[in-house]
Amino acid sequence: MKCPECKTENIQGSRYCKKCGKKLINSEDISVQIEKKIEKVAKEFGEAADRLGRKLEHGVNKSGNSFNQWNDKVFGIFGPLVWSFLALIIIRIFIFGMEAIEDDFVVAGVIGSVLYGYLLIIFTSILIGTYNTYLLRKYKKHYQLISPCISSICFIIGLWILSKIFSAIDAEIDFSILKLLASFIETYLILIFIAAILISYGAMLLSSPFNKKRTA
Ligand SMILES: [Zn+2]
Repeated sequence: MKCPECKTENIQGSRYCKKCGKKLINSEDISVQIEKKIEKVAKEFGEAADRLGRKLEHGVNKSGNSFNQWNDKVFGIFGPLVWSFLALIIIRIFIFGMEAIEDDFVVAGVIGSVLYGYLLIIFTSILIGTYNTYLLRKYKKHYQLISPCISSICFIIGLWILSKIFSAIDAEIDFSILKLLASFIETYLILIFIAAILISYGAMLLSSPFNKKRTA
């Protein structure tokens, strides 16, 4: 390889020119250096993203906890009831909105009428769900044994209503994929329910023994 300064031919791989002592640039060295630099930048980026993620998670947890504390302090045991009624009002307004545009969007009218038909079930399900998280927060030690079961019930009710919406849309505009989905959900509802219970209890069993060890 040639020295860029004095043009003397040097042995391949030499770091300095044997004549003038100028540092020689090896093409292999450059690619290794670039690789190292990219690696370093990627590592730094990864670390920064990790720090940001942890900061965000901490912030969300903190604000979630302070919201829960405020919520429990102000509403106490009636908190879930208050939020469920608020959800009911929002869903009712949503149904009004769907009815308002049903002349232009038939599907909106269908969704609105299905939701209206199951409003009591939806409200009850939300109520059970919010009390479930409240009781889990308050009496974690004992309540965590039945909590996964309750969440699975809420999940399956939601899925069942979704299948009703799908088949109602299919009845109105002949959307066969939705019909297929709806009949799949209805056929396997019990199996999906059992799977949901198993998954949520599995998740609980996986997380709680380690949590207990950590806090003990
Ligand atoms: Zn030289």
